[in-house]
Amino acid sequence: MNPEKDKELCEKYPILYAQRDKSMQDTCMCWGFECGDGWARIIDELSAKIEDVNREILADQKRQWKIAEWLGTIGGFSLGASLGTIPLVQTPLIPILTALLSILLSWQGIRLSRRARDRCFVEASQVKEKFGTIRFYIGPVESKYDDRVYEWIDQAEEQSSKTCEHCGAPGKERSGGWILTLCDDCQKKRDAEYDKYREQSKHHPEDGLE
Ligand SMILES: [Zn+2]
Repeated sequence: MNPEKDKELCEKYPILYAQRDKSMQDTCMCWGFECGDGWARIIDELSAKIEDVNREILADQKRQWKIAEWLGTIGGFSLGASLGTIPLVQTPLIPILTALLSILLSWQGIRLSRRARDRCFVEASQVKEKFGTIRFYIGPVESKYDDRVYEWIDQAEEQSSKTCEHCGAPGKERSGGWILTLCDDCQKKRDAEYDKYREQSKHHPEDGLE
């Protein structure tokens, strides 16, 4: 895919393509989108849907952090109140109950902040062409979202099987060496290039296949 479109997709969907600038030891996404420009629209539409899931997770995570913080504050306040009431009351029951409440609230706050920290965003690990269709590989997905995310990926793959990889026009699978999905015009260009190549190989067999 051309570098401008690659850059545009990564800027538009920063969570989904967070691995784009990582090293090849970490991810195959370092190679960029390994397919033709004709599929850019399919990838764009799929990315928009997945990035919406990521934004939902992000908003949810922020809410969890906020509630966790709030529970911690109330817990701390309640412990302070508990200690403060000791000299004022005759039975230690109220301070004990308040202290227990404080521990409970703080513990819930810690659990919630751990849950928020462990939230999992959907990240693409490789996007490429294989056997004439898009292959869109992602990392782990939270179970709440996995059905719909994988369904969208399947739909994009299906769509790519009917879309010219070079220009985005309606296309179909073409054999002849490497399987590609192309429209009639792009297939004609491909045939012409192949004929030219064969012709050149006849005259300079050392450069060609024959
Ligand atoms: Zn085409």
